[in-house]
Amino acid sequence: MERIRITVKGVVQGVGFRPFVFRLAQEGGLSGSVRNTSGSVDIEVEGAADKVAEFRRDLVAKLPPLASITDLMVATVPVTGETGFLILESRAQAGQFQLVSPDIATCADCRRELFDPADRRFGYPFTNCTNCGPRFTIIRDIPYDRPLTTMRPFPMCPECQAEYGNPLDRRFHAQPNACPVCGPKLTLLAPTGERLEAPDPLLAAAAALLSGSIVALKGLGGFHLACDATRDAPVELLRRRKGRGGKPFALMMPDLETVRRFCFVSEAEAEVMQSPACPIVLLRRTTGGGAVELAGGIAPGLSRLGVMLPYTPLHHLLMAQVARPLVMTSANLSEEPIVTDNADGVARLHAIADLMLVHDREILTRCDDSVVIVDDKGMVPVRRARGLAPYPIRLARPVRSVLACGGEEKSTFCLTRDREAFVSQHIGDLENAETLAHFEATAELFRRLFRVAPELLACDMHPEYLSTKYARELAERSALPLVEVQHHHAHIASCLADNDADGPVIGVAFDGTGYGTDGTIWGGEFLVVDPSSFERVAWLEPVRLPGGAASIRRPWRMAVSHLLKVPLWKEAFARRGVVPATDRELQVLVQQISSGLNSPMTSSAGRLFDAASAALGICLEVRYEAQAAIELEEAALRADPADERSYAVEGRCGPIELGTLWGALVQDILSEVSTETIALRFHRSVADLVASTCAAVRANTGLSRVALSGGVFQNRLLTGLVVPRLSALGFEVLRHRRVPCNDGGLSLGQAVIADALRR
Ligand code: ZN
Ligand code: ZN
Ligand code: FE
Repeated sequence: MERIRITVKGVVQGVGFRPFVFRLAQEGGLSGSVRNTSGSVDIEVEGAADKVAEFRRDLVAKLPPLASITDLMVATVPVTGETGFLILESRAQAGQFQLVSPDIATCADCRRELFDPADRRFGYPFTNCTNCGPRFTIIRDIPYDRPLTTMRPFPMCPECQAEYGNPLDRRFHAQPNACPVCGPKLTLLAPTGERLEAPDPLLAAAAALLSGSIVALKGLGGFHLACDATRDAPVELLRRRKGRGGKPFALMMPDLETVRRFCFVSEAEAEVMQSPACPIVLLRRTTGGGAVELAGGIAPGLSRLGVMLPYTPLHHLLMAQVARPLVMTSANLSEEPIVTDNADGVARLHAIADLMLVHDREILTRCDDSVVIVDDKGMVPVRRARGLAPYPIRLARPVRSVLACGGEEKSTFCLTRDREAFVSQHIGDLENAETLAHFEATAELFRRLFRVAPELLACDMHPEYLSTKYARELAERSALPLVEVQHHHAHIASCLADNDADGPVIGVAFDGTGYGTDGTIWGGEFLVVDPSSFERVAWLEPVRLPGGAASIRRPWRMAVSHLLKVPLWKEAFARRGVVPATDRELQVLVQQISSGLNSPMTSSAGRLFDAASAALGICLEVRYEAQAAIELEEAALRADPADERSYAVEGRCGPIELGTLWGALVQDILSEVSTETIALRFHRSVADLVASTCAAVRANTGLSRVALSGGVFQNRLLTGLVVPRLSALGFEVLRHRRVPCNDGGLSLGQAVIADALRR
């Protein structure tokens, strides 16, 4: 006989781990107990030595699909002679924390029950089990037990209670367990908030969608706005009412088969789409969908679509009814956070939605859909949220407890504790009081859930970011030291942490905007980064950003700024109809650039792509972020790939001059080379420039590792050209895998730098 105590840490609560332990113990005829604490799951088993050994093996080898173990400690303890195996009450432990599971897409078993007329949960939109359902969005605190979730107001009926108490049931200790008798219910609301009587609210919502209405839908982490994606009128109506320029809409499709009618889906992409995280995956669209087409207004001019599969029972039921792709876009007023509350839904969405399908399970924490791309090495997040957060990023070694407040756009924060970096879900653009309130509330929740008391604060250097102001105030209030981190330094440190790597490294940080240490706007930077410090070794030669934000909205102004010294630029612009302004406006602009009035200097790579897009007449004004660059990439993707030319550029340390590149581009325009071909040559030239600059930096520093970060590397064509060039030169290339390369990844880098600086 033998008795052992096993302490398990990792994702082991809310994922069917205790029933699994129970079954395993029963199979081996072992006695003992299992208990959730706020720090771990504690197991004791007693029995024949060989059976105990087998239990230990199977505990790891047969782990339930959603569970994962990060730490496992085993100790031999005295045999007690007890019989039977017990699941003990959860116990809270001061200061300890547990990993909290993200929300998990409906599992296959629950899906089967949902559509089985003989099942008691047939057609029940809130069915879930230990393998699936809401988690992060409903948890107030740990340990993860029903009274600490927003399921608290729903006492279980006897049948649900029996499942919950039966260790052999799939719903054993499934905290959100519910059924039509005892659980949350749907309600249909008019835009005025008036309750509408409908025998089946879901069928009524489906009928409304089929008749062309816009329906606001309360989901897992917030409201969506949905409409028929196969018809132009509802999509146009939604665009108009939401005041959303040309920004693409995400889609939900009933099943993979439907997705394949509209998009190319690789095996790897299919796997990610059907994974427990069930994110929006950016897919390349096919030219035609056969009998059914998608409305033209979904993603105007783009070859990629953001598509997801249903991930809650409510979505499954709705998609089965409408049997067609739906637009499924976050319900928010522009720039504000996604709506989560019923009353708030009415207040903010009444002018957009014709109908609202809501329910009475409160969303405690707002969480948007995650957006990812899938490449040859797996999934890369573009927006890390539902299904991924709040899983921590595991670091290579322990760090101090830091609260890093991130940037401004696509804001996230990061809390670290030991080897875990809890990067928040995507919070949104921190540009208004509502988003800041969301940021603060979520930071408070993370501190509570993960029992982190930060010893150190970090933020960006930009004095005007709300996240910087928040961090400075907090530092004053709490007397904690604050580290202000340069934007691109943080980008590269984030990429290092993402790859479990240490410096020094050559960092290529290409993005739209970041506050530079010299007070100018950076964004086309080559930095030598050792996590605690950086040196700016090369950069795109700065140009004027005439009128600041005005030139971000109107890339043609950027084109003028970049090309002003290039001979014949006016002729080239005339060929492509670039300058939509009057002569007078152009004169004023040129004067503004020359005088530098209200025109900061910028080395931004994002603005460089904007300028090229506008110079080719592709996009003169943007209606959503990065539109000009995205459309430039799209044009290049349509080019004849047999063309292999690029414009001569010379990478070097120090400022990198782009005059020859622009000169050659202007010549191409004047020689009537196609827009697509020029766009491709431009991309190739920038890739050449990155590679040759890294080579020049290596010659000076001996460094042969390159980290790529910054939103510009979301350009898959560019990244696809840069990586092989660097590899061919013998560089090891680090790219983001776990956090976005855009500003959503900044907080992780800030945290790592703050820790390194204060060592
Ligand atoms: Zn399930
Ligand atoms: Zn029930
Ligand atoms: Fe950035």
